[in-house]
Amino acid sequence: MNSISKYVIVGGGTTGWIAACVLANQFRDQACSIQLIESDQIGTIGVGESTIPPFLELLQSLNIDEVDFIKKTQASFKLGIEFNDWRVKGESYFHPFGSITAGMDEYSFYQLWLKKQRQNNLPGLQSFSINSVMAQQQKFFMPQQGQTPLADSRYALHLDATLVAKYLKNYALEAGVVRTEGKLVDVYQANKHITKVTLDNGAEIRGDFFIDCTGFNALLIDKHMGVKYIDWSQYLPCDRAVVAQTKGPTEITPNTKASASDAGWIWRIPLQTRVGNGYVYASEYCTDEEAKATLLAQLDGELLTEPRVIHFKTGMREQVWQGNCLSLGLASGFIEPLESTAIHLVVRGMVHFMRNLPNKKCQAALRNEFNRRIRMDYEEIRDFIVLHYCLTQREDTPFWRYCKSMALPDSLQHTLDYFKASGSLPEQMDPLFSPVSWRSVCEGMGFSPESHSPLVNSQDNHQLTEQLQDYAESLTNFVEQLPSHTDFIQHHCASTAEH
Ligand SMILES: Cc1cc2nc3c(=O)[nH]c(=O)nc-3n(C[C@H](O)[C@H](O)[C@H](O)COP(=O)(O)OP(=O)(O)OC[C@H]3O[C@@H](n4cnc5c(N)ncnc54)[C@H](O)[C@@H]3O)c2cc1C
Repeated sequence: MNSISKYVIVGGGTTGWIAACVLANQFRDQACSIQLIESDQIGTIGVGESTIPPFLELLQSLNIDEVDFIKKTQASFKLGIEFNDWRVKGESYFHPFGSITAGMDEYSFYQLWLKKQRQNNLPGLQSFSINSVMAQQQKFFMPQQGQTPLADSRYALHLDATLVAKYLKNYALEAGVVRTEGKLVDVYQANKHITKVTLDNGAEIRGDFFIDCTGFNALLIDKHMGVKYIDWSQYLPCDRAVVAQTKGPTEITPNTKASASDAGWIWRIPLQTRVGNGYVYASEYCTDEEAKATLLAQLDGELLTEPRVIHFKTGMREQVWQGNCLSLGLASGFIEPLESTAIHLVVRGMVHFMRNLPNKKCQAALRNEFNRRIRMDYEEIRDFIVLHYCLTQREDTPFWRYCKSMALPDSLQHTLDYFKASGSLPEQMDPLFSPVSWRSVCEGMGFSPESHSPLVNSQDNHQLTEQLQDYAESLTNFVEQLPSHTDFIQHHCASTAEH
């Protein structure tokens, strides 16, 4: 009797519709209604086009057919991220998804590679990653179980944010979610719980539990409940992005590109028929006009949209869930998009919420556990993003000098010290970024462990160097046989998307 019988979601961007889909899927056939309020007048942020592999798990959990989703959202495949000019100008490295094993277990491979590389000048770490080699050759194939290098592969998607929201909206409506058009104007509460909201058209909407998905407006969690924002801009000083879409491409690259620039970095996200571009920058070191000019100078296709500036602040809410109000997406926090983690945090928010599903009383213990857990996710991601900046050797602009010398979060400093000493990571609960991710970025930024672990000495033998060299060579040959990314899309999942 105490169960929640009505959820009200305010906001219909990617976040609002993800929340609606997850709830509708969970409560299908149950006496629980879900209503979503959105305002066409306000619209959505319209960015958020690069994902990470767990996004596919969301689609699976909703029983969404992946090929159908790809066709209708103009999606392309993403094997990882290419970073240009981050350590010094002119250098590049790749952060792949998936594992790097060379047919061994991941830990042993890395430690043996560390040992042998120093002695025998072995190929670089990414020569052993199927994803990195595929990206280098612009190839793509689905991961496969068994004794093939594709067993180590994982992928994510680049997608059209507007089409994703549309796709998820159709799913949610079919699953029984009620959509209400209107602009939220007032929020009412009793005993620190929201009881109803009113819209500009006079409608009153009551509910037991409210989910704030109103983007940076954060209408419920901030404007109404006054939950404070923890500001992390001392670690991540970028606070704006100028974004624009371009036509093309003829060849669709299977990776996001993140190229460092004078006061931040520039992304390139290739979809099937257009490219998303943006310059993420720190306004302390660069004006909007300079940022626009820098972005426009880097574009390689005809402009489809005029450059648009978006403001943000990296950080998160002190309590992501307060009373009977859960905040999700941009309303709950934002870490700049370098590793495409924002949509993932929405999904994580829903996963943690489902594990701590409250009744009408919104038990404090469930809320506290949720808040503790989501904060761990945010902090892990924050540290991993800061890693990309703090290892720079660049001193050519004030922005990079700041990044090189800034004070780090204690948790990141500990991870770096531990990695230096062991080549491993401190143990964490259910981390998003695997050791492969940390090793790839650290190696790419020229930060290597002092030594390999003595544990692998017994696995070494005099043929190992040759075996590893052969593996890297056979991987290159194997990938040469695979279809190009562009051909793979054409044959299996060419876009049928209409805006
Ligand atoms: C520069 C930039 C780049 C990004 N890149 C990535 C990326 O590559 N990968 C990634 O995962 N994420 C990325 N993100 C984050 C991603 O854009 C968001 O997580 C995602 O779009 C979800 O946004 P949202 O739904 O929370 O907010 P929004 O899209 O802003 O939606 C807010 C909703 O609330 C509604 N609303 C607001 N006020 C009212 C009101 N008064 N009444 C009624 N409705 C209202 C709006 O109409 C809208 O429906 C990026 C973000 C930025 C800023």
